Parts: sequence; structure tokens; C-alpha cells
Amino acid sequence: MPGTTDLTKLTAAETAARIASGEVTAVQVTEAHLDRIAAVDEKVHAFLHVDREGALAQARAVDDKRARGEELGPLAGVPLALKDIFTTKGVPTTVGSKILEGWIPPYDATLTQRLKAADVVILGKTNMDEFAMGSSTENSAYGPTGNPWDLTRIPGGSGGGSSAALASYQAPLAIGTDTGGSIRQPAAVTGTVGVKPTYGAVSRYGMVAFSSSLDQGGPCARTVLDAALLHEAIAGHDPLDSTSIDAPVPSVVAAAREGNVAGLRVGVVKEFSGEGYQAGVMQRFNESVELLRELGAEVVEVSWPSFDRALAAYYLIAPSECSSNLARFDAMRYGLRVGDDGTRSAEDVTALTREAGFGDEVKRRIMLGTYALSSGYYDAYYGSAQKVRTLITRDFERAFASVDVLISPTTPTTAFPIGERADDPLAMYLADLCTIPSNLAGNAAMSLPCGLAPEDGLPVGLQIIAPALADDRLYRVGAAVEAAFVDRWGHHLLEEAPAL
Ligand code: GLN
Repeated sequence: MPGTTDLTKLTAAETAARIASGEVTAVQVTEAHLDRIAAVDEKVHAFLHVDREGALAQARAVDDKRARGEELGPLAGVPLALKDIFTTKGVPTTVGSKILEGWIPPYDATLTQRLKAADVVILGKTNMDEFAMGSSTENSAYGPTGNPWDLTRIPGGSGGGSSAALASYQAPLAIGTDTGGSIRQPAAVTGTVGVKPTYGAVSRYGMVAFSSSLDQGGPCARTVLDAALLHEAIAGHDPLDSTSIDAPVPSVVAAAREGNVAGLRVGVVKEFSGEGYQAGVMQRFNESVELLRELGAEVVEVSWPSFDRALAAYYLIAPSECSSNLARFDAMRYGLRVGDDGTRSAEDVTALTREAGFGDEVKRRIMLGTYALSSGYYDAYYGSAQKVRTLITRDFERAFASVDVLISPTTPTTAFPIGERADDPLAMYLADLCTIPSNLAGNAAMSLPCGLAPEDGLPVGLQIIAPALADDRLYRVGAAVEAAFVDRWGHHLLEEAPAL
């Protein structure tokens, strides 16, 4: 029987296999992770809320199911860290904001329901930038999360809690959401795997809305196969989400098991390089390109002229949608209420609550979005941004007419120090330069580790982009690259992270 520490080092696939064979119980696995959280999370701060009782109850249910001889699903009993943006019935959901402090949702998000139906053990809710606005988790109202590779650095954002939980072995699986990069960018800077599925593949019902036409939930894990197993557990049509895709979920697990790039055409996006890109990031990226060639892929350079406009378009569209979505936080329906002493009008209570409940970045976005949507400016700002969005979508279509996948670095730099960009929103926004275009176009993209930057010894992420509904290609390519790197290094990259 493996020791407690060993259980936290296993992949999700291995964990499920050991539980299914009876080698360990789901309760033992859950307890090992709860112990690990108790030992390290004071330093990391990945979790906002640990649901000890709920997790153990879910684990016991899995063990009972096995004892009754019922068949267990591919992730039964595997612990997971859930981004605090998904509603969980009876368990606090804050979205990293003071405005929802103390709110206990009366219902589960569709994604939460699916995890429970798959017998995944939800350990708790992870830290995030307030309303998923940010690239470092420093915008959380509950304080920052540390990067397990170096606790003085950011774990990425907005889903830094989820990526840090994986990299510090507090959970083998996690869930993130990606509006402009918040799954892929944290994966890149923590040496983990993160996938933004095709827009509409994973239900947004019960996922607190930031920018509805961009938001997409997705899997985070330490290996490509684990991400695929989680992907299949959470994806699929949901009549409760009007933008949910009514199409079969691509066979991503089969693709991850196959892992093959021979004969594949891979496009390197020319615009994802140059000024602002760290030398060590480009070095590891260029080595990945070479690796793909060695594995039998045909690599060509493609140019994507609309790329330079993507960031500007995103920072008009996302704030515009957020200014509308966040109007529901009016002090009347959920969470915080300030100044309701019987002497003030409802409008004053709403204003006082928003003043106290929203952080600076959220206020900045609401103001930006309200301005961009106001009459007289709508065409010049929001309208132009939507036109750029169409051009980007067309450029992707053109690119995918001649290549199967596109690749780039996931982020221009490795994890930066906590505080370095906190007072400089524009510098912060640049962290998502390579990830934002896929959100605007709605296609699928993955980040996986491709080495450590020589100058700082921190993880570098390789981004793979596939056309909408071709999510399986990400896993086929990702698994091949991962296997080749593990072969070359002799171990998984995360094994080089300092022990906490
Ligand atoms: N960093 C981007 C932003 O702040 C993306 C965030 C996200 O994907 N949720 O909007």
C-alpha cells in the first residue's frame, strides 16, 4: 500500500485505477489530499474554501458503490479543486469577490452536477482574480496565491488557485475558466496542463458570468491524459445554456491515448514572437518546434495579420459584456448589502454595496464597458471591436485551411513576481497576448509544459490551437509532445519543482 505522500503524487488515471482495483479506497485518497492541503496551503493559498465533510462524504459514496459491486466511472474517487466561479449547492461561492462573501448558492452549476455524477471528489473552491478579471490572482479580494515553483511569484490568473493546487500536489485535477487565457496562462507558468475547449462545449449554467461570449470552463491537470478524462466528464450539450453546442463531444481520451503527430501540418504563428517575449521562452518554444519536426510533423510558418488588434478588441468586448453582466450585483439579490439601515434609498444601498464590494479592477472594467457601450461611442468602440473579432475569426479559418493545428508560446514571459505588475493594468493585460485570439474566435486551445526557461528556471508553456469542435487534435498533439519530453528529460517537469 503506498504511503500518504505517494497518493498525492499519482495521476488522476492511476488514482482511479487503484481505487477501482481496491488497492486503495477513495476515502484514503481524499484524506491524503486533505492532509496535504493542511500541510501546505497556508503557504500557497490555493483554496478559498475546503469542503472537508462534503469531500469525505463523496469519497465514502464511491467506496460504497464499489462494495456493492457497481461499476465505477473513469474518474471515480479522484479529488478535484474547483474554481470558485462555479456554483456549488450549500458550499460558499465568492468568485474571489467581497460582493459575494457569505453567499451560499441554492443550486449546483451543470459542471458541478456532472463532476458529482462522475463520482469526482470536490475538495473545495480555489482562489481566483475577482470575477476572473486578471492574469495573476492578485485581484482576488481574499489575497494572492503563490506559485509553488517560487512562492514570491504569481501562479497565473485568473485561475491561479487551481493551477497552484495541481503544482503543489493538493489535487490531481482542477477546473478553470478561460475568457482570455485564464486556464492556459496559469497552466503555462506552473508547469501544468490546461485546456480551453471550443466555446460552447462546457456548459456555462451556474458559472458566474464575466464576458458571456468569451467565457469557457475547462479541465486542468498535470498530464494530458488526465485533462482528457476530465474534459469528457464535463463537456456535452446542456439545454440550460443557450450557447451550449448540441454536437457529440470529440473523443479526446482516445486522442490522448493515441498521441501521434506523424504527417500532421503544424503552423507557427509569426506574430507570436519578437518584442516583449522572454529569450528563454522563445528558446524552449523553438525547441518544441524542432521536436515536432523530429516526431514527423510538417511545420510551416503562418502569418496572422489581425493579431496585433486582438488585445485591443478583447479589452473592449470583455468589459462591455461585464458591465452588463455585473449589473445583477445590486445588493438586493445576493451576498453583501451595505448601509441598509432604514434611512437610505435602494439606489443608495446599491451604490454603497458596489463601492465596498467590488475591487479596483472590476470597477475599472465596468466603467470602461459602460463607456464603450454608451450612445455616441458604441459604433466607434464596441462596433469596431466586433469587426476586428470577425477578422480574427476569418484569419483563423484561413490558417486552418492549410494546417491542422497552430502553435505558439502560451505566454510571453514566465511567472513574474507578485506585485510587479499590480499597479500597471496594461502590463498585466500583456500576459494574455497569445491566448486572447482563440477566445475571440471561439476555437479550442491547450497549454502544456515545454521546459524551464534557462534564465530563471521557471516553467514555459507551449500553446496548441485547433479549430472549433476539433478539440481531439489538441490531445493527440499534446500527448505526443508530452511523451517525447518526458522521454528526453527522464521525468515529468513538475518533479523539478521545489518541495514545499
Ligand atoms: N487576463 C484576462 C482578463 O483579465 C483574461 C481573464 C480570463 O480569462 N478570465 O480579462
